Amino acid sequence: MEFLKASLVALKERRLYRQITEYVPVDGGHVRIGQRTCILLASNNYLGLTHHSEVQQAAVKAVYAYGTGSGSSRLITGSHPLYQELEKEIAAFKGTEAAIVFNNGYMANIGTICALAGQGDTIFSDELNHASIIDGCRLSGARVEIYRHGDVQDLARKLEAVRQGRKLVVTDGVFSMDGDIAPLVPILTTAKEHGAMVMVDDAHGTGVLGEQGSGTAEYYGVKGQVDIQMGTLSKALASEGGYVAGSKELIAYLRNKARSFIFSTALAPATVGAALAALRVLKQQPQLVARLRHNAAYMRAGLEAAGLPVLPGITPIIPVMVVDAGLAMDFARRTAREGVIVAGIRPPAVPEWTSRLRITVSAAHSRQDLDMALQILVAVSRELGLGKGT
Ligand SMILES: *Cc1c(COP(=O)(O)O)cnc(C)c1O
Repeated sequence: MEFLKASLVALKERRLYRQITEYVPVDGGHVRIGQRTCILLASNNYLGLTHHSEVQQAAVKAVYAYGTGSGSSRLITGSHPLYQELEKEIAAFKGTEAAIVFNNGYMANIGTICALAGQGDTIFSDELNHASIIDGCRLSGARVEIYRHGDVQDLARKLEAVRQGRKLVVTDGVFSMDGDIAPLVPILTTAKEHGAMVMVDDAHGTGVLGEQGSGTAEYYGVKGQVDIQMGTLSKALASEGGYVAGSKELIAYLRNKARSFIFSTALAPATVGAALAALRVLKQQPQLVARLRHNAAYMRAGLEAAGLPVLPGITPIIPVMVVDAGLAMDFARRTAREGVIVAGIRPPAVPEWTSRLRITVSAAHSRQDLDMALQILVAVSRELGLGKGT
């Protein structure tokens, strides 16, 4: 097993070696490292609901009502009562007939894509789609056509060239590393013209986009027109689990065909209870979504005013393009020393020479948090020679 050592050494030399750091969660916007409380700008906890008292109480209540684990898969005896409630609420929120909950977003993508497309079919996938979509495409055995990022003309050309089999167009709603939004309206039109199904991964759209926070389809006013709306319960919804919302037939089909749904033990009651409570809080308090939007705009404006190379957009995912992987990691390390946690993102999460800081804000951050973070981010960028004319 010599290859283990060799490959670890190679990763270290290229500054691509990954390690795990322990953070002690304090609330939706802060973590403690040792004695120090830091501002967390690297989480997908967009609404801070992990620490909302109703959500926490729902998780605890579920443990006492139904125990700590589900004991078996959904199709055997693991489908405890909160599951059905959650699936109903998700469907209502997304404006679809039905929904199905998977154990996480990764499994939702893999299971759904493989159930919908196989040998003889073609999947059309945006080049910046999430790894779980890429893995689903590979595992499906279908032909995969990768179209240029957000390029509907390229998508149309590729759709035009395929005459046989099922066609599935799949895209992130909000792209996880660039924070931009898929051009969903022309994608829908083009896909319909070519008889293709459309699947949107709203992991970063749910709780974020639209007045109600129901996602990319709401943002564009095309709720109900997307065939397959996938998302996760692990980001804005403060728990774990993935889901697909769509027609009754689609959901019944996935229940019967999606292997990652069938062959895995159902989520624990606490997890489902927390997700359900978080979704209810979100429905009752759309002002959380407005606050998130406001915080994102404030942070973006501050970084741009300081001349940092920020990718344009409106979502809470704010990439600062550092380009070099080592420099991105240095940047993140230095801001951490000053009490601000941002993610240094490098290959293979993003293409070579597009390494970046990925700054994410939450509704849980105060104006004071954002001001302090901005001050530190700008100071470190000056030290490293970034921004202002570079
Ligand atoms: C996080 C994420 C997933 C995976 O969801 P998990 O619930 O964390 O497994 C899928 N797609 C996108 C775009 C994501 O950002």
